[in-house]
Amino acid sequence: MIRISDIIDKVTENNPDADVDIIDRAYIYSARVHDGQVRLSGEPYLSHPLEVAGILADMNLDMVSVAAALLHDVLEDTKATPSEIKEMFGEDVMNIVSGVTKLGKLSFRNSQERYAESIRKMLLAMADDIRVILIKLADRLHNMRTLKFHTDQKRIEIAQETLDIYAPISARLGIYWMKNEFEDTSFMYLQPEEYLKIKALVNKDKDEREKYIETVKNYIKNKMDEYHLNCEVLGRYKYFYSIYQKMAKQNLTFDDIYDVIAFRIILDTIPQCYEALGLIHALWKPISKKFKDYIGIPKPNMYRSLHTSVIGPFGERMEIQIRTKEMDRVAKSGIAAHWSYKEGKRIDENISKKFSWIQNLVENQKEFKHPDEFLENVRIDLFADEVYVFTPRGDIRSLPSGATPVDFAYSIHSEVGNQCTGAKVNGSMVHLNYRLKTGDTIEIITSKNHHPSKDWLKFVKTVKARSRIRQWIKTQEKDRSLTLGREMCEKTFRKNNLNFNTLLKAGQTEKVAEHFGFKTVDDLLASVGYGKITPLQIVGRIIPKPKVEVEEETLLNKILGRVRKKRPGSGVVVKGVDDILIKFGKCCQPVPGDSITGYITQGFGVTVHRTRCVNALRMNPERQIEVEWNKDIAETYSVKIQVTSFDRVGLLADITSVISRNEANIVGVNTKTLDNKTVDGCFTISVKDTAQLRKIMSDLKKIKLVHHVRRLDG
Ligand code: MN
Repeated sequence: MIRISDIIDKVTENNPDADVDIIDRAYIYSARVHDGQVRLSGEPYLSHPLEVAGILADMNLDMVSVAAALLHDVLEDTKATPSEIKEMFGEDVMNIVSGVTKLGKLSFRNSQERYAESIRKMLLAMADDIRVILIKLADRLHNMRTLKFHTDQKRIEIAQETLDIYAPISARLGIYWMKNEFEDTSFMYLQPEEYLKIKALVNKDKDEREKYIETVKNYIKNKMDEYHLNCEVLGRYKYFYSIYQKMAKQNLTFDDIYDVIAFRIILDTIPQCYEALGLIHALWKPISKKFKDYIGIPKPNMYRSLHTSVIGPFGERMEIQIRTKEMDRVAKSGIAAHWSYKEGKRIDENISKKFSWIQNLVENQKEFKHPDEFLENVRIDLFADEVYVFTPRGDIRSLPSGATPVDFAYSIHSEVGNQCTGAKVNGSMVHLNYRLKTGDTIEIITSKNHHPSKDWLKFVKTVKARSRIRQWIKTQEKDRSLTLGREMCEKTFRKNNLNFNTLLKAGQTEKVAEHFGFKTVDDLLASVGYGKITPLQIVGRIIPKPKVEVEEETLLNKILGRVRKKRPGSGVVVKGVDDILIKFGKCCQPVPGDSITGYITQGFGVTVHRTRCVNALRMNPERQIEVEWNKDIAETYSVKIQVTSFDRVGLLADITSVISRNEANIVGVNTKTLDNKTVDGCFTISVKDTAQLRKIMSDLKKIKLVHHVRRLDG
């Protein structure tokens, strides 16, 4: 069992000026509150926090980390309170200990593979202070070292969780020694047979291998000396789990894996690294695909090194890593290297700018005098674009940052989303546009008769929620169109002495649907509701050449003198559909340039009104349909204008000449002389568009003694 004096020795060895008082006090306090508790190993409980603190001291972390490590279990297992910790050891220690306790309480019921990544990220994101994670890792490391005292079942559970969660986190943070230990220990408990097999294979011919290592080291050393490169050469066995993975992944036998041993060359400067690489490649033939330059392009976790594989002196495959002392230090402790006690120490400024969060980390460490600011930044930068939240059952969901309870509801199930009426976050009701935060537990309140709202589209963040809401709205519109289409058909058929429903049952409409290119009769009816097809067109397919009122309408138009050279309505487009009958409301006489809207008229396609038309406003909004002017077609449209003037000789001639000078036809005139010598002239003229109309009206106003000119809306 490690003693507190050993820990203090480690700390002072690295930092002779360190004020170890806080560590002393934390030790005394921890010993007092854990007094009488015993571990499964039979050792006093205190041995565990001491070992954890020892690991952190070895990692050269700051005093606060080491003190917090000594106290990391006191909130969980003893009567100690956060306020007591805060009072005695300060806010930092209290926050870290609380953080470790909080993470310890998360239960990963579903530690299936698909959750593993989310859980890993969540663990990282939930820690307000990266030191919480470092203590949590050291805690797990010591628990793994003493795992043999647990039951078989418990061992497997803990080892699997370590392999799924803790090993990848330590790798992500660049603490590879820890990752390797996690993997090898978990491997030992999870697949003991495989583990022992590989162990035996590695140990076989050990003497010969040791000789081999010495030989290769000498080759390298001599070559470096020849070029006056001062270096250290190391040869080490690869970890069992990585050998196992390599065998399993590439389906190799142990004998096929030559590079069980890896060599490392450690130099002083970066140029020396590249020089050494050149010398190695000159000595032994490189395997080209295996070369990696993590100095030029560091890994996101700050790892830097040159990796190469060569054909070694005995024709074997050999892996060599080349790096500086500083890189080696970082490779060993990862993120911890940047959070050591030595505040004054600067990180190499050449660390690639390409990795934004690392870049921030590095730059901020230089800028921020206060460690809290730096830590805050580490936390934010780890996963700024995601939030991790819980279902009431404790499952984890990851959502994009800014996601709302509606996004969460749709991530559970489309129906939950569709029927979502409200949400509780951590037990309190919130608005549906509440922005979820990592760690929130969300409960969705649903109601059978509730439907999505168009407004939700304004705040949802996920693609799934957005598309499901849109889909629902579309289905709704289709249902409405279907009902409307059916109603329109029934009426039109009745007018033509046909019974729509009888024909429907007789299967007659199916052929019609097919004729118009629809798969089902429902689709056909919906498109009637949309106004794409008129009920008369359907009647037309059932009784050949029906006598329809359209012709009368056209005839009437001719009588009235409305100019309709082309087929009616071609000047207006209905939602991109061209094959539809268009009429114009006589009440408001729309002209191109006017804002218009369409209404489906039973049996007669679409009637176009001006948006402001009083008659249009009275129509059933369900029959409303979007229309727009077709700019490609030049037609003329009748419009009524009223000219009020003092009666005088030549007035009518002046008016008609203004109109014809503007290239408009006069279709009808109706004048009335009033008592006070004013005359009201009502002119029906045909114009191309509102621009032409406006010009005519303004020219009319300039005529002598004309009081005013206005357009009649009917
Ligand atoms: Mn612990």
